[in-house]
Amino acid sequence: MHRVYNFNAGPSTLPLPILEQAQEELVEFKDKGMSILEMSHRAKDYEELHFGATNLIRELLGLPETYKVLFLGGGATLQFAMVPMNLLPAGRSCDFTLTGAWSKKACQDAQKIGGVNIIYDGKPNNYLNLPDPTSLTVDCDAAYLHITSNETIGGVQWQSFPDTEEVPIVCDMSSDFLSRRFPIGKFGLIYAGAQKNVGPAGVTVVVIRDDMLAHSPNTLPVYLNYRTHAEGDSLYNTPPVFAIYLMKLVLENLKEAGGLETAEIWAGKRSSIIYSAIADSGSFYFCPIQAHCRSKMNIVFRLPTEDLEKQFIKEAADYGMVGLKGHRSVGGCRASLYNAMPIEGAKALAEFMGEFAVRRG
Ligand SMILES: *Cc1c(COP(=O)(O)O)cnc(C)c1O
Repeated sequence: MHRVYNFNAGPSTLPLPILEQAQEELVEFKDKGMSILEMSHRAKDYEELHFGATNLIRELLGLPETYKVLFLGGGATLQFAMVPMNLLPAGRSCDFTLTGAWSKKACQDAQKIGGVNIIYDGKPNNYLNLPDPTSLTVDCDAAYLHITSNETIGGVQWQSFPDTEEVPIVCDMSSDFLSRRFPIGKFGLIYAGAQKNVGPAGVTVVVIRDDMLAHSPNTLPVYLNYRTHAEGDSLYNTPPVFAIYLMKLVLENLKEAGGLETAEIWAGKRSSIIYSAIADSGSFYFCPIQAHCRSKMNIVFRLPTEDLEKQFIKEAADYGMVGLKGHRSVGGCRASLYNAMPIEGAKALAEFMGEFAVRRG
């Protein structure tokens, strides 16, 4: 077997022991004579792992009783629509911060549903910066403030969150969910597609505060109403069972490793290895993002020419480091360093960066 260091932005690298456990259990799950893939979602064994996964998320986040954890299909993208459909009543508006490609997409869907007030737009600085959270003025009548905690494509990450008093924050945490601690009390709703940091594609985690559930109009189609999933413990219809199973293994692994505090320390170590490699290269590598908001998950950087970038990506792949091409909308290079990236992967990349810069600089 030859496993590469996988720097893809998502789907992305998973811990090898988990893939091996899933492989071992695939054909027969716990002496049941069938695979988890074949099992009813009403079976006791499935329910055990379903609620096991819910409880692990509760535990890892330290969730108060007033929050529910939901497992939904449709990716984070469906949440761009579900959030305003449920939480943005007619005649009200929500506030938005536009910080890159993902928040723009979320905003476009919200605008189809109701009133949107853009309180920050990073366009003038090409989305290479984030506002000081204390400088934002939130409309005190807003139904919520939408934030994208980490812009996966642009490489900016909020280091702290604004104080919005009574206005709940709704946050797309797809690409940094469970990579650090954060003050849960500020948030009315958090959503995250699992395939960046916590599992495979197919399941989206939604954490929602009970008072938010009261807003959903009864006229919504049943699947699109958060109350359906809250009341049915995400078992109203068939949940993405295999994705939830794999995510549970990832969550167990994270808990054993020490939870969010440990994840935060490792994210700091991995990212500083790469940012240091950029800084130590003289001006061969260049990170265009303002230093105070650089992402610890997705590190974007440029080389002196596009030709060198192509060479760099190609040669890195020859050394077993893949997924370093920047998103097609921004170009350049991007190293995604999620929870499952071993520190050795970051070190190997930094070493290659240093060697390449000496050779081609
Ligand atoms: C990947 C990503 C999405 C889209 O996720 P899907 O599950 O593919 O719909 C949304 N927001 C952010 C921040 C992402 O990184």
